[in-house]
Amino acid sequence: MTTPTTLLILGASGDLTRRLLLPGLGSLLERDPDRPLRIVGADRAPLGTDAFAAQLAASLAEGGAGDEIVDRHRLSTSYHQLDVTDPETFSAVIDGLGVTDRLIIYFALPPSVTERACQTLVSCRLPEDTHLVMEKPFGYDLASARSLNELVDRLVSDDRVHRVDHFLGKSTVLNVIALRFANRMIQKVWSADDIESIEIAYDEELALEGRAGYYDHAGALVDMVQSHLLQVMSVVTMEPPSQISGRELRDAKAAALRATRLWGDDPATATRRARYTAGTIGDRSVPNYLDEQGVDPERDTETMAQVTVEVVNQRWAGVPITLRSGKALGKTRKHIVVTFAEMRHLPEGLIGGDGPDRLVIGLSPDVMELHLTTNTTKDPFTLEQSTLVTDLRHSELNAYSEVLAAILDGETMISVRGDAAEECWRITDQVLEAWQSGAVPMEDYVAGSPVPADWKPALG
Ligand code: NDP
Repeated sequence: MTTPTTLLILGASGDLTRRLLLPGLGSLLERDPDRPLRIVGADRAPLGTDAFAAQLAASLAEGGAGDEIVDRHRLSTSYHQLDVTDPETFSAVIDGLGVTDRLIIYFALPPSVTERACQTLVSCRLPEDTHLVMEKPFGYDLASARSLNELVDRLVSDDRVHRVDHFLGKSTVLNVIALRFANRMIQKVWSADDIESIEIAYDEELALEGRAGYYDHAGALVDMVQSHLLQVMSVVTMEPPSQISGRELRDAKAAALRATRLWGDDPATATRRARYTAGTIGDRSVPNYLDEQGVDPERDTETMAQVTVEVVNQRWAGVPITLRSGKALGKTRKHIVVTFAEMRHLPEGLIGGDGPDRLVIGLSPDVMELHLTTNTTKDPFTLEQSTLVTDLRHSELNAYSEVLAAILDGETMISVRGDAAEECWRITDQVLEAWQSGAVPMEDYVAGSPVPADWKPALG
């Protein structure tokens, strides 16, 4: 039986709540209509319960919730005007909720306000089964992530802190776990003995799309590599867990991240950064990034980042793992590519081959391709690549709803643990430092062009 839960959303009239959180809840409630859930909104705007209820109803419906579910939540919700930096009002709101079971506080607030809200909560009395949901970014560098961890530690135990990374809710990432740990054939080749390199890429045709307020401060490295791609990497490289549980998975992922170093321990050769200039993507004209509304050239923000790392342990030492994400590229490619080592010896008499065998796991569309070397149909002594393709299982829920389902169940399996969040910053802090010191030049690429051909991992 699911524990009766009150979900208190701080920042209830913000963008995340409207566009992702409430629609995500809508889909989840449509699947699990009987979840004992009460949704409460709080924000500093003088919105009133009726206005919030209307917004809630629209967003739940947008996520696919049917009329009966929408009406139930519209009628049971409430809204509180609250400045989260004010301890008295915050305490009164929490006490007034009268929660006797589970309280989930969702910080859909700007990151700096989230930190101040946590400071305020230190002086409030929280119900025993209180969970905190922290959005990304969790801190802005290693030191700030550490101090935020210390702060939330004073509020609840770490198994009640859900640091959201919706990539971990993507079915494909969950599929990687099944693929790796339920297939003897894959399990046998999943190490440096048989794998030459790994690429985890999230290259998008989408450009800035009016998000300068957030993106121009973050850039591709912090927006994508620091959080999502390192998390995906930890799932691809972690040691086999003995069971699928929050404790086991998070221990295994954290160990992989702790063993991760920049390739050659040198941010200057292990990383690349670039920014798009004006171009065309399909029939869309895209302006130079620096001319986009809200962009400050002084911030020198990159729109494509590539980082090559090595997981320095017995399984992976020597295998370059390249993480890359870019905006405004000519082709959207979101995938994990595992490239297998060449054969040690090819029998004389066999000719050709189109390069090494590869396993490609699509991160949407969720398709898996295995590229294997076979004979050509015409000549049995000439080799070519054949591709086996399969669709991977799609979850009926989107990534946000999957994450929300776990949070409402009090399950931390697909959220980021505090030490893992710090490890990700440890890795990217070195990159940011090198970039700020000018050790890595800012390159440019024309919007709509492919990833530059020379962006290969810096090996050696
Ligand atoms: P918004 O600025 O749209 O919303 C934040 C809300 O918090 C606003 O309604 C704001 O009110 C309110 N707020 C600010 N200060 C206080 C305060 N002292 N007390 C109470 N409420 C306050 O931000 P987003 O919704 O875009 O982002 C929220 C979080 O989600 C951030 O951490 C962001 O990084 C993360 N996130 C957002 C995504 C998105 O697509 N939007 C995607 C992934 C993560 P006011 O308007 O009056 O300032």
